[in-house]
Amino acid sequence: MPRVAPHVEAATVDSVAAFDYAPAPESRDIVRLDAEYGLFVGGEFHPAVSGRTFVTINPATEEPLASVAEAGVEDVDRAVAAARAAYEDGWGRLRGRERAKYLFRIARVIQERARELAVLESLDNGKPIRESRDVDIPLAAAHFFYYAGWADKLEHAGFGPQPRALGVAGQVIPWNFPLLMAAWKLAPALATGNTCVLKPAETTPLSALFLAQICQEVGLPPGTVNILTGAGATGAALVAHPGVDKVAFTGSTEVGKEIRRAVAGTHKRLTLELGGKAANVIFEDAPIDQAVEGIVNGIFFNQGHVCCAGSRLLVQESVADLVLDRLRERLATLRLGDPLDKNTDIGAINSAEQLAKIRGLADAGSEEGAERWSPPCTLPDRGFWFPPTVFTGVSQSHRIAREEIFGPVLSVLTFRTPAEAVAKANNTPYGLSAGVWTEKGSLILWMAQQLEAGVVWANTYNRFDPASPFGGYQESGFGREGGRHGLEGYLDG
Ligand code: NAP
Ligand code: MG
Repeated sequence: MPRVAPHVEAATVDSVAAFDYAPAPESRDIVRLDAEYGLFVGGEFHPAVSGRTFVTINPATEEPLASVAEAGVEDVDRAVAAARAAYEDGWGRLRGRERAKYLFRIARVIQERARELAVLESLDNGKPIRESRDVDIPLAAAHFFYYAGWADKLEHAGFGPQPRALGVAGQVIPWNFPLLMAAWKLAPALATGNTCVLKPAETTPLSALFLAQICQEVGLPPGTVNILTGAGATGAALVAHPGVDKVAFTGSTEVGKEIRRAVAGTHKRLTLELGGKAANVIFEDAPIDQAVEGIVNGIFFNQGHVCCAGSRLLVQESVADLVLDRLRERLATLRLGDPLDKNTDIGAINSAEQLAKIRGLADAGSEEGAERWSPPCTLPDRGFWFPPTVFTGVSQSHRIAREEIFGPVLSVLTFRTPAEAVAKANNTPYGLSAGVWTEKGSLILWMAQQLEAGVVWANTYNRFDPASPFGGYQESGFGREGGRHGLEGYLDG
């Protein structure tokens, strides 16, 4: 029997018309999965030297998808050597306009194979096909297109007359946007003439391996991109390898701190894209229906597995009841379930571990006295699921207001004045993003100046463009990805 989400209170949402949708599943046969995948080193797939493998599963069903090689220290050595050779003999000597051609080809093939990639990403990650199809894959292609355009213009990018590549980049990425994060790392590194060794997250290795196949398909010189699958130990071995000139990491603040310690005192350049606890600030003059859409997109997009998620809603007291009523109504219309169904809004939580973390923090919210609410929603029997959840009566000292939950959980706080909104929004060790909703342009500009966040969205949320730099302050990390700024982390200007 399907489980019914706990903490259900249907009373406030019974005015909503319920639409029935017939299932509209995308076919999983669109993508052909191999039973086993090797490491992509020097342009070919190889088993790990140790012979070790691990299994990646579909988090929506817990079904095994494929067995994947687990890279050890020897494999890291080989991949870094392959990247070094490619840098010295090939890629590092190519002219920018030649590098650009490869990046354009990668972008084109991502577009051509977008449907396969979208299904693969949803299978391995649990995210709704609507998001992988409309957001992850198109943005990944857009990143390669965008940086292809920079490859032959680096002398004009403002980093000196002859900016040079750094050499071999060791790159480690998380599981929330697997292909997109790979694109964010690889595209600027390759455009600037570096070669790469990339480690995807243990739970989502498949789209990076698909990208490795695309590198073969476009004839990218062997060793220019190497993909090492594995867990945290593989990432640690990669960032510690003396042959790496640049470390680029996206992931948790905790691991970011370890990596910073590991590279301290070496020649390695470092950029860190870490966690966040963003405030989404709604003023009383905001267009409320639009703001409610922005709140939903801010925290329930990608199951809330988003570093810049608007996980703290700051709403002006005078409109708090109105906003919360509309928000509950809207949440009651979200559909949770099969990620491959095109009607699905909320997919599966990426792993049992992440589900346990979300549950633990949500329980802490209840224990500390906040009021918990979820719309009526049925959770599938198998797989990892968490209902969209809203906490009201949250105070700034609650764990759910301070710690990154990285799940579909919204903490609501109120404020009376803009100054109070700023003080509350900035009361966090993070500083990745923020949202502001108001009709007043002057207030938007003032808020954007006051908020300590790398990205401030005004009357929108979670909007990404390859031309726009993204990155954090404080414990959200340093360095920018995207835009002209994204070149800087890979150049010795
Ligand atoms: P994580 O545990 O830090 O893992 C990130 C990556 O680092 C994974 O590939 C992981 O491997 C690897 N790793 C783990 N321990 C390592 C070590 N000691 N040395 C080197 N690599 C290591 O983070 P996560 O839980 O996967 O991702 C969620 C976090 O990423 C959130 O905090 C989120 O805010 C952040 N994030 C930030 C951004 C941004 O742009 N700022 C974007 C997306 C996500 P395994 O997965 O195989 O263990
Ligand atoms: Mg998986």
